[in-house]
Amino acid sequence: MATRNRLPAAPRRMLGDVLDALLPARCPGCGAPGALVCARCEATLEAPRFAPPPPPLDWWASCFVYRGVAREMVARSKYRGERRFLPAVAERVAALVAGAPAPVDLVTWVPASAARMRSQGVDHGELLARCVARDIRVPAAARLSRALGRAQTGLAASARRTGPDLRPIGRNDGATILVVDDVATTGGTLGSAARALRSSGAARVFAVTIARTPRPGTVSPERAYTPVTPIAPSDLRKPNSLGSR
Ligand SMILES: [Zn+2]
Repeated sequence: MATRNRLPAAPRRMLGDVLDALLPARCPGCGAPGALVCARCEATLEAPRFAPPPPPLDWWASCFVYRGVAREMVARSKYRGERRFLPAVAERVAALVAGAPAPVDLVTWVPASAARMRSQGVDHGELLARCVARDIRVPAAARLSRALGRAQTGLAASARRTGPDLRPIGRNDGATILVVDDVATTGGTLGSAARALRSSGAARVFAVTIARTPRPGTVSPERAYTPVTPIAPSDLRKPNSLGSR
């Protein structure tokens, strides 16, 4: 891990792509080869119960409760740069948008913190948002910027509840804007995004996320990652030795 952290972002991103290409797809729940999420683990995914959106957000929806396989899937794409889940997850997220109370004009995302950008070299939120936008045939654009500050991950629930300090980019007069994000914990980030977008003239702000915590604040994202199937050096030497694909 220490070695990985010393790698600059661009080579790390390339390494991530190389690993994605070399390693057989394995279920993030049980490690079974040959599937993104195997049928048995897929059956354990739960849809979250209704919860009112954090004001001034007008509407929100989420694919999964943030635990088990869903948590592992998000953690792998967010902290380990496994992008193989992205198209399938974006499709599920895009399907939720059909339930929104009004047509969406523009898709945007909550920008990654400077620290995360430095360590990951890529904004996973932007990648997801652009995939979702393509699926629902709506333009995607950066509409939020982050004032200098700490990443939300690792902060106490009370600190997260107020959300990061987000600022709007340009005017969004009369627009209905969809914010795409990976996990809603307290809803503080999405509330902050909605405030910023409203201040730039947006008429409505909606949000969709991959997952939502069972009860806001009960699962901290930094504890989410559990290496069910750690990458072993032998995997790199024998990329096809783990069964059929
Ligand atoms: Zn499985």
